[in-house]
Amino acid sequence: MLMKAKKPQKSSPVTTAVFPGSFDPLTNGHVDIIERASEIFKRVIVAVLFNPSKDALFSQGERVELITRQFARYKGRVSVVSFSGLLVDFVHSTDSRVIIRGLRAISDFDYEAQMALINRKLAPQIETFFLTAREEHSYISSTVVKQVALLGGDVSGMVPKVVLDALSKKRLERDRLRAKPLF
Ligand code: ADP
Repeated sequence: MLMKAKKPQKSSPVTTAVFPGSFDPLTNGHVDIIERASEIFKRVIVAVLFNPSKDALFSQGERVELITRQFARYKGRVSVVSFSGLLVDFVHSTDSRVIIRGLRAISDFDYEAQMALINRKLAPQIETFFLTAREEHSYISSTVVKQVALLGGDVSGMVPKVVLDALSKKRLERDRLRAKPLF
C-alpha cells in the first residue's frame, strides 16, 4: 500500500535558503549561484556534504574553510557548515525549507529532478529551487577543475583566487610525495 505523503505545512515566508553540495572544490559556478541566491534570500547556508563514497581532493574542513574565506565579506548573510546524512534532516535543523540547486545543462536535469522528487517525498514542506548556471560557467565542474589543475593546466578563470592557491598547494604536495625515494 502506498503511504500518503504529508500535506505541506503553511508557514511564514522563508528568509533562509540552503545550498548543499560537495564543493570539492568551490568553483566560479558555485560562487555565482551563492551570490545570486543571496540577492533573493536574506541568508544562504552553504551546506558542505561529507560523502565518504566520493574520492575527495580537499577534506571537508578544507572545503568549508575555502568557502568561508571566499564569502567572509558577506558576514552573516552567507554561512558555511558541514553536514552528513539526509539533506532534508539537515534542512529541518535550520529555519529554512528551501533547497537551492544549480542547473548547468539538460544532463544535470535528470539527476536533480530525481533528487528534488525524493526530497519532496521525504519532506513535502521543503521546496527545491533551481537557478540556471550562467552561460560562461556552464562547462565548469569541480571534477574538471581538479583534473586540469592537477595536470598543471590553468584554471584561473574557473575558480576564485583562494581556491586557485589551494589547488597549487595540493599539486606541489602531490609532486613532493611522488618525488620521495622509496627507501
Ligand atoms: P553535488 O556533488 O551535490 O552535485 P557539487 O559541488 O558538484 O555537489 O554541486 C553543488 C551544486 O552546484 C549542484 O546543484 C550543481 O548542479 C551546482 N553547480 C555545480 N557546478 C555549477 C556551475 N558551473 N554553475 C552552476 N551551478 C553549478
